[in-house]
Amino acid sequence: MQEPAKNPDELPLLLLVEDSMTTTALLSKYLGGGYRMLHAKDGVQALQMLEQRPDIALVITDIHMPNMNGHQLLVKIRKDEHDRFKNMPVIVMTTAEDNVDRNLAFLNGANDFITKPIDEMEIQARVNVHYRLARTIRELESSQKALAEQATTDALTKLKNRRAFFENGARALSMARRYVSDLSVILLDIDHFKKINDTYGHQAGDEALIVVAHILMELTHGAGTVARIGGEEFAILLPDFNRLGTAVLAERIRVAIEREQFIVGDKIVPITVSIGISSFGVDPAEDIDQLLGVADSRLYLAKKNGRNRICVNDDGKARFA
Ligand code: GH3
Ligand code: MG
Ligand code: MG
Ligand code: MG
Repeated sequence: MQEPAKNPDELPLLLLVEDSMTTTALLSKYLGGGYRMLHAKDGVQALQMLEQRPDIALVITDIHMPNMNGHQLLVKIRKDEHDRFKNMPVIVMTTAEDNVDRNLAFLNGANDFITKPIDEMEIQARVNVHYRLARTIRELESSQKALAEQATTDALTKLKNRRAFFENGARALSMARRYVSDLSVILLDIDHFKKINDTYGHQAGDEALIVVAHILMELTHGAGTVARIGGEEFAILLPDFNRLGTAVLAERIRVAIEREQFIVGDKIVPITVSIGISSFGVDPAEDIDQLLGVADSRLYLAKKNGRNRICVNDDGKARFA
């Protein structure tokens, strides 16, 4: 049974690798109803086509061909270091009497084989099975990826979530320890956020969180992990940032948020943040929880000393504004 025929352009694309024109013509006839076909006359041409056409869904290959035979082609496909076609389903055509070729093809990673002369029903059935199996695997992989993404993303702001922060943090800390490199944390809490909610509503509060998230992403531009780790609390993990670099970035963030024209209805609503920072190797911290703990105690000092400020050490005096 063929896949239900839709628009011919949407039919799955097969690559047939075969040096015999007779077999090529026959397979085009057998499979043409449910698939589009590309034809390569040897392994070299097949590899070129695989590289150029990421829409190829399945390969059917002959064994005996000039230049590069079917075994060599299989080995190249399975060893694809860029993972472009490593998982490509490959069906190998052998002659009935040739067990050696068949076994070698399986050893090299063929998904299936079919014996010549090719039977119409059999080739259709085998191609359909392997095409569907590969498609199902692809779908599973992509939904798995989407789920993993979801599990580490904060739904409101699209930043990383608390879990991702600690996961990345543990990894970054062991790297910093191994390579004796810098690692810092910025911890930031919106000032009097409850008042924004109470005055302008929860929706406005949510929008304020999104605005802050954008500013953090923009100013950090890929240098670290920006996460929302609590209601109105954000943390940035900064590999290779020392205390000074972190203090400079923290202050830039503070100023950018203070200057942001956050508008609700016809009002400009001021938003300010308090920030604490900490650096691995400088501050007393053995793991990511402790490192965040140090930043948190400084955030507390920043709040205590009047808010809208950064605090970079334990005397709480350092203020860059
Ligand atoms: P402080 O300057 O001391 O940090 O004061 P604050 O009002 O910001 O702190 P507090 O912890 O008293 O209040 C935080 C508020 O954040 C309370 C909670 O309702 C609100 N909040 C937490 N998560 C969300 C959210 O996802 N959306 C909105 N709109 N509000 C949230
Ligand atoms: Mg041949
Ligand atoms: Mg707050
Ligand atoms: Mg808070």
